[in-house]
Amino acid sequence: SAAARDRLRIAIQKSGRLAEPARALLAACGLSWRESRDRLFCYGETLPVDLLLVRDDDIPGLIADGVCDLGVVGRNVLLEQDGDRRSNGRESAFREWRALGFGGCRLALAVPEAWHWEGPQQLAGKRIATSYPALLSQWLAGEGVDAQVVLLSGSVEIAPRLGQAEAICDLVSSGATLSANQLKPVQTLIESEAVLAGPAGGFDDVRGELADLLLRRLDGALRVRNSKLLMFQAPRNLLDELLPLLPDAEPPTVMSLDNGDGVALQALCHGAVTWQRLEELKRAGARGLMVVPVEGMLA
Ligand code: ATP
Ligand code: MG
Repeated sequence: SAAARDRLRIAIQKSGRLAEPARALLAACGLSWRESRDRLFCYGETLPVDLLLVRDDDIPGLIADGVCDLGVVGRNVLLEQDGDRRSNGRESAFREWRALGFGGCRLALAVPEAWHWEGPQQLAGKRIATSYPALLSQWLAGEGVDAQVVLLSGSVEIAPRLGQAEAICDLVSSGATLSANQLKPVQTLIESEAVLAGPAGGFDDVRGELADLLLRRLDGALRVRNSKLLMFQAPRNLLDELLPLLPDAEPPTVMSLDNGDGVALQALCHGAVTWQRLEELKRAGARGLMVVPVEGMLA
């Protein structure tokens, strides 16, 4: 494994779907960087945490080789490469540390729209095109189906039209690409999203403390990502009606006002604070409603 280092190095996608959200999430953890001229390396300024900007496919290998300590990559890529390693008799060298809540998609099996889908056995003897041979082979083996896996590195969805395969196994988000190619999804193999990937073990030097610090901040950032602080005033005797209207709220802070029986309330809400919900609260007696975005939280 890697030589001892006193800085943490995180691999993220250089460009593509995960590039911006990965940087934004790490920035929300208080990290900032100075970018190298070739835009491949970002030197951490606020903390000794650097970024390496790479192709997403390279991220698991960089972690396995100890070139990078952590990475932000799709679960689909991580599981495929782990499956590939293990089918070659090697140990797992990386694993998912946290799910990050963006880059959602699924790895699905799709067949021509004209097929009447009866189940996995229908694939016996058929050719299935995919860029995920390890995950597809694992699934076929689990279902006890003997089909031929055709490996393609891209444009998998046109393989049936080109006569290269009868079915495909590919990433799907909206399904628009599939229907444009007269295909329909019939089976989900994996629900995927961007994840923070790290080594299968931990770190035995100062990087362990840096990773712990980062994980604590990350957990706070993930918890409040869509959360709002809701503040308002109300007569104390209306609290029983108001509290159930708070969308997925933490126990609120209730403060007595100097004059009379009024209270000021603030609650961290993880559910959507919609206009409709604010209007309901107002009808139930809340006054001076204010919704405030939350930047961070340390439990
Ligand atoms: P790179 O140049 O880094 O190799 P790429 O073309 O392999 O980029 P992207 O298309 O940017 O990668 O996708 C990166 C990840 O985004 C995927 O591995 C997957 O986890 C996720 N993703 C979310 N929705 C989709 C989708 N509809 N199609 C493909 N990937 C998706
Ligand atoms: Mg790629």
